[in-house]
Amino acid sequence: MTEIVVDWDGTVTEQDTLSLALQHFVPRKILEPITARVDAALAAGTMSLREVMECEFGSMKMPLADVVAFVVEKARIRSGFAELVARFDPLILSTSFHETIEPVLEREGLTVRVRASRAVAGPNGWSIRWISDFDCSQCGEACKRRALPAAPFIYIGDGYSDRCAALAADRVFARDGLARYLTELGAAYVPYDDFYDVLAALS
Ligand SMILES: [Mg+2]
Ligand SMILES: [Zn+2]
Repeated sequence: MTEIVVDWDGTVTEQDTLSLALQHFVPRKILEPITARVDAALAAGTMSLREVMECEFGSMKMPLADVVAFVVEKARIRSGFAELVARFDPLILSTSFHETIEPVLEREGLTVRVRASRAVAGPNGWSIRWISDFDCSQCGEACKRRALPAAPFIYIGDGYSDRCAALAADRVFARDGLARYLTELGAAYVPYDDFYDVLAALS
C-alpha cells in the first residue's frame, strides 16, 4: 500500500496550534515585531523556516506543561482524520513538536506514527531540536525531505514546511499556502477541505 504522509499543523489541525500558543503566551508587543520581521524574511528567502521558528520560540518563556495543556484544550482536528488513520495508517511528518502533537493524538484516542521536531523549553526562551540537521540539495533548507519514506508516497499538507516534500511525492493533496505555491509552480495537486475529500479521492 502506498504510504500516506501528512503534515500536522494546519493540516491535521484546523489551525496552526503553535501560532495559537505563541499568540496566547507571548505578549503582543513582543511577538508582533518578531512575526512581522520573520514572515517577511521567510517570504524573501533570507531566513529558513528553522530560523523563523527558532526566532519565534526564543520569545516563548512558558513551561512546556502550560503550553501543552493549552494546545490540548484548543486544537481542533480536521474532520475525517480518524477515518484516514483507520484506513491508511498515515505517517505524521511535522516541523512542529512531538511534545505538542502526541498529547492531542492521545486526547483523540488515536495511535499514529509521528516524525517531528522536539521542543526544549526554558525560562530564557525555547530552543528546537529540528527534524533534520541536513540542508536539502533541492531547497537549501533542513526540510522534511530527508525524513520522507521511500517512494511511492502520497503527501497531504497546507503550508511552507510542506513545499519540498510535496514536490517529491507521487500525489499531493494541498490547501491554503501549499496549494497557492504549487499553483504558481504549475505542479499538480488535489485540493481538499477535510480528510473526507481525501478519502473520496483515494477510493
Ligand atoms: Mg502545516
Ligand atoms: Zn528540501
